[in-house]
Formats: sequence, structure tokens, C-alpha cells
Amino acid sequence: MIIDGKKEAALLREEIKKEITLIKEKYNRSPGLSVILIGDFAPSLIYVKNKEKNSKEVGINSEVTKYSENVTEKEVLSKIEELNKNESISGILVQLPLPKQINKEKIINAISPKKDVDGFHPINVGNLSSGYKAIVPCTPLGCLLLIKKIQKDLSGKHAVIIGRSNLNGKPMAQLLLKENCTVTIVHSKTKDLKAECQKADILVVAVGVANLVKSDWVKKDSIIIDVGINKVGEKIVGDVEFESVKEKVKAITPVPGGVGPMTIACLLKNTLECFKAR
Ligand code: NAP
Repeated sequence: MIIDGKKEAALLREEIKKEITLIKEKYNRSPGLSVILIGDFAPSLIYVKNKEKNSKEVGINSEVTKYSENVTEKEVLSKIEELNKNESISGILVQLPLPKQINKEKIINAISPKKDVDGFHPINVGNLSSGYKAIVPCTPLGCLLLIKKIQKDLSGKHAVIIGRSNLNGKPMAQLLLKENCTVTIVHSKTKDLKAECQKADILVVAVGVANLVKSDWVKKDSIIIDVGINKVGEKIVGDVEFESVKEKVKAITPVPGGVGPMTIACLLKNTLECFKAR
């Protein structure tokens, strides 16, 4: 089965839109998302444009503050402080990557954990790993929702995650642990990557190496979630060799059209959750 991320994301957006419409009717209020965009990095411009468009479609008030590449850290921090205090803003997102003069850690720490729609603030990271209520990073959250569409009960499943980034691998591991999976994280220093992957009932690949995972790396009837986005010539491909792997497994996400659309839908979900919590 090919997991249709576009369709699942559209369903999630529809649910979010319905809920926001009801809230608006009842309280005459709606969530607000503020995005800070620095510089002209082409992928960031596209992501932010999509986030803005999707937000508007579901009824989230969205605003973008754009800075030039050489903006100072102080200026961005002061904007974040203003947004933290602004009652009409439910979620704040600073689009990564940042230019050299701006310290990513300082920026992430400055965002109120209650408005941290990316789920990167240490308070949210800590809450997630403690098993408490947390804002969860959008991509792993989207991956989990897709996995659960295929299999509701994940208890006892062996999940292998390739990649240990704060953005993807680590929060993914926490989410799957919470679902009672046995979780293995592998990375660039892992001795026998293929042997580890072969044990996986669920394999999440978040590396950024085109076609890294081959069909003899995967177990028959497993679930494969491909987070990777790689440009090969004019084509966008994932980290999994899709054509050969899809023949062997129970379900797989394509690239594009798999995890990507769910990431943005989960950002909208997180914005709504932040709004409701406040
Ligand atoms: P990252 O921070 O660069 O982390 C990559 C991870 O992969 C690291 O843990 C690294 O290991 C590991 N790795 C690198 N080469 C490896 C190899 N040959 N074998 C095994 N492990 C290897 O990347 P990221 O931010 O997590 O993103 C990963 C991919 O997901 C990228 O292609 C990115 O574009 C994509 N992405 C997609 C979405 C989406 O919405 N679909 C969202 C975010 C990111 P070490 O830790 O040992 O260096």
C-alpha cells in the first residue's frame, strides 16, 4: 500500500477547519500564527508561502515578518518577545536555517513554550521525553499519524529510526516509545545499518541521502516512512529506493506526497492546540 500523505493531510486540515469554524462561531476568536522569515533561502520561501496559504485555508490568521539576511540577533529576539506578549498570537515559528550571526539555540529558547508550534523549546522536548503533555515537532507527529492509519496498535512492534536529529529522529523515537514500541535509533556511526533495519516492523528514515535504503534492508510486510527530501537532477526523491522497496512491504510513504504534506497539516494542528490551551 502506498500511503497517500496528501489525502491524509487534506482530511486533517478539514478537521482543523471545522473545529476553528465552531470556535469562531461560539467565541468570535481564531488562532493566530506568526512566522519569522530571515533571508532569501529558496526552500524557506516556499515552505513559508505554503504554511501561510494552508493557515488561511483553515481559518488561522497568519502573518509573516520578513528580515534581510543581515538582521541582528537582538532585533529578532525583540520581535519574539513582542509576539510572546501578543494575545492574538497563538503560535510562533522561526523558519530555519538561520544566518550565521544568529544563534539558533537562543532563538528557540526565547519563544514562549506555550507558543512553540515547532515543539523545539527544551521545555517541550523535556515534556515529550518525560511522557507529559507536550507540543510535538510537526514532522514526527505527522509520521506517527500516518503509521497509525496503517496500524492502530503499535505495542510490541520493533521500530527502527535512521537519523538522530532533534527535528526528526529523537522526537520520533519518543513518540514510538510512548506507543510501546521497542525502539532502535541508528545513525552515521552505526556499525551494521542494514542488519538493524532488517529487524524493523516500522522503519522511519530521516537522513537526507537519496535511495539509501534498499529492498534487501527491509523486512517483508513492514511499514516504511520516508522523511528524506533529496534533489536528484530535476527529481525530488526520498531516502528509500521506492520502486523496489514498495514491492516487499506492507505500506510505504512516497516522496513527494508522503510525509511532507503532513508536516504542514501538523503545524496547523499544533497552532490550534496552542490556541485552545491558552
Ligand atoms: P540531519 O539533522 O542532517 O540529520 C541526519 C541524520 O542522519 C543524522 O543523525 C546523521 O547521523 C544520519 N545520517 C547521515 N548519513 C547517514 C548514513 N549514511 N547512514 C546512517 N545515518 C546517517 O537531518 P534532518 O533535519 O533530520 O532531516 C533529514 C531528512 O529529512 C532531510 O532530507 C530533510 O530534508 C528531510 N526533512 C523532511 C521533512 C518533511 O516534512 N518531509 C521535514 C524535515 C526534514 P549523525 O547524527 O551520526 O551525523
